[in-house]
Amino acid sequence: MIRRFNAFSDNYIWGIEIHKTICIVDPGQSYEVLKHLENFEHFFSIGAILVTHRHHDHIGGIKELAKSRFAGSEIKISLNESPIFNQMPIFGPTDCQRYGVKHIVSDGDIINIGDNTIEVLDIPGHTEQHVGYLFRSAHDQPPAFFCGDTLFGGGCGRVLGGSFIDLYASLKKISKLPKETLIYCAHEYTEANLKFAREFFPDNSGIKKRYAEVKKDREKLLPTIPTELSYELETNPYLTCKNFNEFKAIRMSKDNWKG
Ligand SMILES: [Zn+2]
Repeated sequence: MIRRFNAFSDNYIWGIEIHKTICIVDPGQSYEVLKHLENFEHFFSIGAILVTHRHHDHIGGIKELAKSRFAGSEIKISLNESPIFNQMPIFGPTDCQRYGVKHIVSDGDIINIGDNTIEVLDIPGHTEQHVGYLFRSAHDQPPAFFCGDTLFGGGCGRVLGGSFIDLYASLKKISKLPKETLIYCAHEYTEANLKFAREFFPDNSGIKKRYAEVKKDREKLLPTIPTELSYELETNPYLTCKNFNEFKAIRMSKDNWKG
């Protein structure tokens, strides 16, 4: 199963639970993860950390998790079929090495954790280097894509060190994943994204309907993530736009939107 941890005001840290091991995606903080493990200390240990990009709200908790008593598990982990003997490998792109990433990954790399497979996809644009992790469970469940700050519910990441053209290409790449893929992004931004989208596309009934649903969920403090890719393909303006120029125009308007 995939566990959600809250961090900062609107970040999500994800934990992939496999047997008695949990693999943590983008630990911007350590507190919520450690608190959870302390409650279940006889059950879980941290098998691996997966980092999508270098921003502090994705890497800030790595060091504390690595030195905690929960670091390291017995589960078999390999990268491109080579076994990793380090007990808690930390995967991520090259520019995350200074934050503790030891195993550099990029497009096409395959990480195996127990019987489960994680495929690495390069999805730059938000930052110059940014990877996503496509998790396929050994059990019959839809694929889960951990996309960091690239695609959000009803929106996409800002260009903060990357480029518009790379971000556009990365979103195209994500849109070709299986439609039932569940998108696990790193922020709860869906309501604001759809509020903007509704203003930008006032005649779009799909966006209008989704905004109303999301608003209700958020009033009850329910999370809107994960979201299914098929839903994003219908109602996310950065995936439904017709070409790069339209994409860039929407993204730039959102950057200047005051809400
Ligand atoms: Zn970021």
